[in-house]
Amino acid sequence: MPVLVMKFGGTSVATLDRIKRAAKRVSREVANGNDVIVVVSAMSGETNKLVGYVNETSPMFDAREYDAIVSSGENVTAGLMALTLQEMDIPARSWQGWQVPLKTSSAHGAARIDDIPTTNINDKFGEGMKVAVVAGFQGLSNEGRITTLGRGGSDTTAVAFAAAFDAIRCDIYTDVDGVYTTDPRITDKARKLEKVSFEEMLELASLGAKVLQTRSVELAMRFKVKLRVLSSFEEYDPNAGTLICAEEDIVENNAVSGVAASRDEAKMTLVSVADRPGIAAAIFGPLAEGGVNVDMIIQNISEEGRTDMTFSCPVDQVARAEAALAAAKERGDVNFEALVSDKNVAKISLVGIGMRSQSGVAAKMFKTLSDEGINIKVIATSEIKVSVLVDRKYTELAVQALHDAFELEKA
Ligand code: ADP
Ligand code: ASP
Ligand code: MG
Repeated sequence: MPVLVMKFGGTSVATLDRIKRAAKRVSREVANGNDVIVVVSAMSGETNKLVGYVNETSPMFDAREYDAIVSSGENVTAGLMALTLQEMDIPARSWQGWQVPLKTSSAHGAARIDDIPTTNINDKFGEGMKVAVVAGFQGLSNEGRITTLGRGGSDTTAVAFAAAFDAIRCDIYTDVDGVYTTDPRITDKARKLEKVSFEEMLELASLGAKVLQTRSVELAMRFKVKLRVLSSFEEYDPNAGTLICAEEDIVENNAVSGVAASRDEAKMTLVSVADRPGIAAAIFGPLAEGGVNVDMIIQNISEEGRTDMTFSCPVDQVARAEAALAAAKERGDVNFEALVSDKNVAKISLVGIGMRSQSGVAAKMFKTLSDEGINIKVIATSEIKVSVLVDRKYTELAVQALHDAFELEKA
């Protein structure tokens, strides 16, 4: 029988009523002749609450215990979904990550999936079970500890199951009816995209569009999973939502397809560093070892053998970055006058495969921001994106201005 994967995010399972609504969608797919794997998130707000408990109890927490705690929200919704389906006379059973077992690396809090054995669940399908409900976001390490896949990780669970079971499709049900040209919460001019390429979705996700976890898009691209994003609140429509697909399947090719914003950024500047060979390695080596994910980097012009070095990283890694650099200075590996941290920045990015063949996107972006009086602090570009750091208070204004300037409301 064909297997279909359906993932329901936090808002789609936020109450018992919503779980019932989601279960009705599942029952329709069962009636259509599919065996269904349902992947659920925790009820919305639940994971944040659990993360709060962890931080309050132990600010420098043991990541193994963090995972033991924050993974628990999904256990509740998986069991409730299975019970709801059983109440509808649909044979269903729940699986927690360790029961599958969904094997992952030991990188607690950001584990990567290594393997999903299919026998156990397939045997149950063979015995007449119609729906396997899987707790998203969680797995099991080689050491036998519970792991989690990073925030938003249930998307990745869903795509990984779709790949492992060779599913006909992976449907991601959420609180918006697809992928938009930008976060529809920032501007009501955001337009729903019928299709978006894996490459663009990968950039949008990693640059802040949290509608899909980045890793889920990577997996879908690698294993050619048919991935769709759609609303769990709208009436059933077989053609609803946005399809994430190969570039060849997309006809329209605007220079810019979308604008992404990430508010969780910080900018750090090492003031007056000795400009000598090996200095970048002396700075970024300890940062990498300290677990800091450095994103953009700029080195200023050198004056009298000294220079300023600026980089950006996630705002919640500033303390780690400061500690790693202080230790490097203490050891005499790097010498700087001061370390200035700016925790009030946001990254605004334009993404589009059309940028490969059309020039002028960056120039138009800078002009648009300057017309709004928004100062650009750092710039980074790649083949299909341009990103800038700006003051966080300008996030909405910058996104709206760029959405207008590039006429993204028009198809
Ligand atoms: P879920 O709980 O279902 O996983 P998320 O909150 O993780 O849902 O992701 C859905 C949210 O992503 C939307 O409510 C929307 O605000 C946000 N979002 C950001 N960028 C985009 C975009 N380009 N298109 C659609 N949604 C976006
Ligand atoms: N519940 C987890 C989170 O909030 C995983 C997910 O919803 O995808 O990050
Ligand atoms: Mg999500």
